[in-house]
Amino acid sequence: MSFKEKGLLVVLSGPSGVGKGTVCKALRSRRSALQYSISVTTRKPRQGEIDGVHYFFRTREQFQEMIRKEELLEWAEYVGNLYGTPVGYVKETLEKGQDVILEIEVQGALQVKRRFPEALFIFLAPPSLSELKKRIIGRGTETESLIENRMSVAKSEMELMENYNYVVVNDQVDKACDRIEAIVLAEHCKVARLIEKYRKNKEFDER
Ligand code: 5GP
Repeated sequence: MSFKEKGLLVVLSGPSGVGKGTVCKALRSRRSALQYSISVTTRKPRQGEIDGVHYFFRTREQFQEMIRKEELLEWAEYVGNLYGTPVGYVKETLEKGQDVILEIEVQGALQVKRRFPEALFIFLAPPSLSELKKRIIGRGTETESLIENRMSVAKSEMELMENYNYVVVNDQVDKACDRIEAIVLAEHCKVARLIEKYRKNKEFDER
């Protein structure tokens, strides 16, 4: 296309343990054109997690300072920790015409929907709730009470699916990635996204 299109903001959300992180990582290793926003959190790093790669690990005070300075596009408290998306990176990347993907929990996704209703909202769903519990236990990073807490949060999160544009079942990571890439591609081809730009394009007028 001869004219520059603004990037697409893709919000990938869904219950904890559904595999958002795994799916995002897989999309990354496919060298998909999606750019990944690194979130800020007050949670302690898990083994192997690196500051500035997996998250920006910050204190609660530092996080609250970011909220006060309006440096976060959205933020949410999740199981006792704060998580948020730095707004600067997202805006700059979209302006450059690149697509950005946010991997965030559902409260944050609802905030993005209020601020950027034109974003693309994809709900990643587990094949079943019992499968979800297996995955949370299988991760082995959570205590018994945290698992129960995450499961009860997950059940209410499933109800929020109605706010999204698409639902992708994460039965197999590769298939989930295929579906997400197909959705993003189709979104780029939507008439509603493109028609104004076509009308403004000189070459198109001359035909
Ligand atoms: P975890 O502690 O397992 O890394 O993440 C817990 C939850 O927080 C996951 O559902 C993850 O998607 C979500 N999360 C990660 N970053 C953000 C963020 O920037 N904003 C919001 N709202 N949720 C986030």
